[in-house]
Amino acid sequence: MKRLSIFTTLFSIFLVIVLLSIGVSALYSITTFKNFIFEVEKDDLMEKTEILLTLLSVDDLDNSEVLERFTQAGSGQKTRITIIGADGVVKSDSMRDHETMDNHLNRPEVVANIEDYSLVVERYSDTVKEHMIYYSLPLRDEVGIKGFLRTAISVEALNQRVNSVTVTIVIISIILFILSLVICYMVSMNFSSFINSIKRVAGYFAKGEFNNILVEKGPRELSSLSRSINSMGLSLRDRISTIVKQKNRYKSMLESMVEPVIRVDLNLIIEEINPSAEEFFNVTHGGAVGKSLLDITGSRDLNDIVTGSINSSLDSENIVVFQSSHESHLQIHSSILFDGEGNKSGVLLVMNDLTEHVRLEEMRKEFVANVSHELRTPTTAIQGYIETLMNNDVNEDQFKKFMGVLYNHSNRLNSIIDDLLVLAGLEKSSDSFVFELFPVIDLISSVINVIHDKAEKKSITLKVDSSERHLVYAHPILSEQALTNLVTNAVKYGGEGSTVIIRTLQGRYGTTIEVEDNGCGIPLDHQEQIFERFYRVDRARSRDQGGTGLGLSIVKRVMNIHGGDAKLKSEEGKGSVFSLYFPGKYH
Ligand code: ADP
Repeated sequence: MKRLSIFTTLFSIFLVIVLLSIGVSALYSITTFKNFIFEVEKDDLMEKTEILLTLLSVDDLDNSEVLERFTQAGSGQKTRITIIGADGVVKSDSMRDHETMDNHLNRPEVVANIEDYSLVVERYSDTVKEHMIYYSLPLRDEVGIKGFLRTAISVEALNQRVNSVTVTIVIISIILFILSLVICYMVSMNFSSFINSIKRVAGYFAKGEFNNILVEKGPRELSSLSRSINSMGLSLRDRISTIVKQKNRYKSMLESMVEPVIRVDLNLIIEEINPSAEEFFNVTHGGAVGKSLLDITGSRDLNDIVTGSINSSLDSENIVVFQSSHESHLQIHSSILFDGEGNKSGVLLVMNDLTEHVRLEEMRKEFVANVSHELRTPTTAIQGYIETLMNNDVNEDQFKKFMGVLYNHSNRLNSIIDDLLVLAGLEKSSDSFVFELFPVIDLISSVINVIHDKAEKKSITLKVDSSERHLVYAHPILSEQALTNLVTNAVKYGGEGSTVIIRTLQGRYGTTIEVEDNGCGIPLDHQEQIFERFYRVDRARSRDQGGTGLGLSIVKRVMNIHGGDAKLKSEEGKGSVFSLYFPGKYH
């Protein structure tokens, strides 16, 4: 059903009230006025009759001339005068010829006089053909009633007077009604516009706009209602801004967390998820909300953990392995959430990505295994030779040979330990190394000084292709270590009588040092792993050359510290070019 507007309702009610009150009072006024006029006229008629009676004597009743004059004195007046004889015969009348009139003895007013009282009677007159009010008094002498003096006034004349007043009352009522209508319209309009302004402002409040407030005007109750609504809006605004601030704080906290965080309801439907979790599970922003945990994570284990937490109402901590493009290990803290009434409402999952930690742990294990393995070879050999020396008689030649082998193995042990110490030293943060700008040729010269003898032993020519203007911004000791390792390798793996070229290239964004040899080269399938710790193409050959398998990994780490890189270009059997790139603008 269509509901009426407050204006229509109010205006209709006012209209009915105004209509009823003005109508009833107009009706009442008209009726009262009519009654009043009739009563006054009747009294007046009675009074007039009594006065006229004093002017008429019984003797006059037989004098038709006197009677004629008496009644004619009343003609032209609004009062009709009739003289009736004791026998009911009309002797004179101010309005009619008395001879044509019938006997009046049966007229109620005359009957009343005969019965000794007087009566005002209203009835239709056959004589004058209209409604009249009659009154009559008897003319007496000592003997009894000798005749009657009757007066009458026209009801129509009275009604005409009443009607003219009725018209005035109706006109006044209509004017009053129109005025009331205007007032009702204005009052209804005012009230409905006030209610509408409350409705409008409440609508703004509902939309979270609190700048529109009500004007505090009008009657006391309405202005105090406006004030209450305005202060309600202000407190609502404060509360909402507090809630929004809290929500934003909570949201920014959640969004800035590196740990993936997910909140699910008791049916394992995702209610909230932070960007880290979205990134981890590879879902678009906001795309996971409303979906099931299993759909998004694809992990049944995680589902079982959360279901277990919900069933037991206990928080838990587990490690779950996720298989996607790669294997990830997540530590999951699941905490039960409760609503304000203490009922379980969901579960909060905070995840800690342990993948890197697990990878480092595996690398550490692998490294320890590698180190142990590398150390075992020389220590086992040393142990074996010493046992032989202790348990057997050996001649001088054998003794010298054994001592030589022992010397080589202990040297090897030393080299491994030295390289490990260098590597450990390089694990510090890059910021703790101080770099200098110096000519790259200085670096090359120091390296050649160290390697020169070894190269000569293998008749290897060390060629330098560089300019004194080429500069490098580097850590002097670390960069020398890296270049030494490369040139040492070039000499180690370069053939007898070959040439090793040390070349420098100065570019816009940095300096590159290349070490080129034409030795055995490195097969393509080994090139990717060549910079890893203990990685060697040919273990036996490396060992023979006194290699540790750590040299290139030291080079790689040194270049990382410099923010640069170490690269390899090699072709099996033809030779290798190792390059060191030091970033920096030198122009
Ligand atoms: P190593 O102490 O064994 O030389 P490195 O880390 O310096 O250890 O080198 C790793 C491996 O890379 C070596 O064992 C060798 O097989 C290969 N290699 C390094 N430099 C060269 C080179 N210039 N020519 C051929 N092979 C090389």
